[in-house]
Amino acid sequence: MRWSFRIGRLAGIDVFIHFTFFLLLAWIAFIHYNQNESVAAAVAGIAFILVVFACVVLHELGHALTARKYDIKTRDIILLPIGGVARLEKMPDKPAQELWVALAGPAVNIAIAAILGAYLYLTNSFTPISQLTNASATFVEQIMAVNIFLALFNMVPAFPMDGGRILRALLAARLPYPKATQYAATLGQGIAVLFGFVGLFYNPLLLFIAFFVWIGAAQETKLTQMKFAFSGIPVTDAMLTNFRTLERTQPLEQAVKLTISGTQKDFPVIDKGEIVGVLTQSDLLAALSSRGPQALVSEAMQNQFVTVESYDMLETAFGKLKDCNCHTLPVKHNNRLVGLLTMDNLGEFMRIQSAINN
Ligand SMILES: [Zn+2]
Repeated sequence: MRWSFRIGRLAGIDVFIHFTFFLLLAWIAFIHYNQNESVAAAVAGIAFILVVFACVVLHELGHALTARKYDIKTRDIILLPIGGVARLEKMPDKPAQELWVALAGPAVNIAIAAILGAYLYLTNSFTPISQLTNASATFVEQIMAVNIFLALFNMVPAFPMDGGRILRALLAARLPYPKATQYAATLGQGIAVLFGFVGLFYNPLLLFIAFFVWIGAAQETKLTQMKFAFSGIPVTDAMLTNFRTLERTQPLEQAVKLTISGTQKDFPVIDKGEIVGVLTQSDLLAALSSRGPQALVSEAMQNQFVTVESYDMLETAFGKLKDCNCHTLPVKHNNRLVGLLTMDNLGEFMRIQSAINN
């Protein structure tokens, strides 16, 4: 993710922090300093947030390590001011596995709260949660309360919270996966409306959360629909076969001609029948203004590019398109270029598929 910095590596997984997180820290320090006019209060405020986020990292690590049990790798863990995300390389296909992966996060917070509770109990300083108020609570009590809150909040049955995945996994044990997703997403959006309504009157923060839940539910439904529309269909069935290519020794002028005369935006670059690069529209525009139309295609093209094999499944290709930050995937067969795949053309393919199936 852009604007993120790596802060370390845990169990072989890189942990990143988004720069907006530092804004949160600055804001917290400012508020504490302002309230108490003391540097110590500001430092204590920051220490509290850092410990809370350490608990969030452990929560995400719970997801990641459970996924690892099912041979699913985790790309990285990212900390945002609104919480953490463990980016798994894929979601488990079996509902039972998804259930355990989703449960593992909140389970970590419950474990932390239990350990802190036991510590307080053994040191005879345990106060029942119901009697805790912000002013009188000690640091340990506050962290315990936060972990209980994190566990409960994440169990709300709405995407993108863990509870949404847990609900879907439970429904998917009896229903087809897309239907289970649809039901879970609908309930999630209902909860978002409820959050929004309550937030309007009581707490603006809930409005913010409602917005995220609404978007999360819509995204999850769309992703699942795509995944299912694409599963078991090879790339050859959906790729563009009517496209133009460039030679590396041609001038950029030629790319301009092809761009204007057609609808293609990115061009594969060929040398002796093999693909050696990709010239995207933004490469072309940048090179035209810096080098002029007589510069060669080879000077402006990208030498590093992602490709897909013609016999790969659309699901794989879709994943690559999503992750590569590119618009076009060249399709190869026996090392020769046979087609192109774009998000637009995948979307078109999906619309046609669902028209046929309805
Ligand atoms: Zn979680």
